[in-house]
Amino acid sequence: RPADERPTIQALDQTTVQRIAAGEVVERPASVVKELVENSLDADASRVSVAVRNGGKDGVRVRDDGVGMTEDELAVAVEEHTTSKISDIDDLETGVATLGFRGEALHTIGAVSRTTVRSKPRGAAGAGAELTVEGGDVGEVRPAGCPAGTTIEVDDLFFNTPARKKFLKTDATEFDHVNTVVTQYALANPGVAVSLEHNDREVFATEGRGSLESTVLSVYGREVAEAMTTVDADPDGDTVDSVSGLVSHPETTRAGREYLSTFVNGRYVTAGTLREAVLDAYGGQLAPDRYPFAVLFLDVPANSVDVNVHPRKMEVRFDDESGVKSAVEAAVESALLDEGLIRSSAPRG
Ligand code: ADP
Ligand code: MG
Repeated sequence: RPADERPTIQALDQTTVQRIAAGEVVERPASVVKELVENSLDADASRVSVAVRNGGKDGVRVRDDGVGMTEDELAVAVEEHTTSKISDIDDLETGVATLGFRGEALHTIGAVSRTTVRSKPRGAAGAGAELTVEGGDVGEVRPAGCPAGTTIEVDDLFFNTPARKKFLKTDATEFDHVNTVVTQYALANPGVAVSLEHNDREVFATEGRGSLESTVLSVYGREVAEAMTTVDADPDGDTVDSVSGLVSHPETTRAGREYLSTFVNGRYVTAGTLREAVLDAYGGQLAPDRYPFAVLFLDVPANSVDVNVHPRKMEVRFDDESGVKSAVEAAVESALLDEGLIRSSAPRG
């Protein structure tokens, strides 16, 4: 093509760079909820309350009673790549105990919404402080009356990126995603009281007293809770250290939608291997297109699992996929067999 038609290679301006980057982290309201709930859990909260409006499109609020932030910390927290969780690459090599560490969530959420952070350190006297970020413009830190802990309100998500906003689905669908996220964190943390509200109506609230059974009761209701059977296995070999949790009776299922929650070393993950293991354990006793409820915790050696298949997704890959599958399948199958819920398909031994 002629030289005068050649596009110029030029640097993007900061605002454009920031908004493109934000789109990678924040795809929809549920991604905001995920980041904020993770921050609350990382902040040692014993109570995390999530409230959303219109599927989260118009507003997301997450409140916790965690360690909180001082005025100075508040200002730093919303900057780009700021974190209190790691200090250099060596920390990553030795392993990170927190859910977050990239230091980009608050900054990027602030770039594509109107966000207010209000916080007071645990144990501090007097008022707390608040800070508003609107489309990346960071305001002044002001004093604000608030309880100890942190409240973050994210309003008008994508107000300044209309193309992205257009891709959001209906309120019901967006809320579904939010509900899935909050449910996973509630199930993974029975010791934390987690609640969810949609348009001022309570969807669920867990007690936070540490029992998985009561958490399942709060999240999925009595019918499901009463149909759950305990899984508790220490498989031989060193592929899987333990498998524990709850799975439902083969007749307590839902159509077309899966309620399979799997956690590996305490983290919510999705893995085709785990899904197949659970479904296969029912040995053909599930009606077509019906899915059981399952909440399973796996402990595996840290070096046998890759959690970084995609940094923002929850997929994991195991070194020994088939070993993991047979261990989980056997654990679930033996729980169901013990209760007489399935028939033994073949002699095992
Ligand atoms: P990351 O979680 O990767 O560190 P974020 O952008 O999510 O990055 O948060 C930046 C920092 O802000 C955190 O490292 C933490 O120090 C602080 N912070 C965020 N949310 C909270 C919260 N709910 N309670 C206390 N501190 C918080
Ligand atoms: Mg974070």
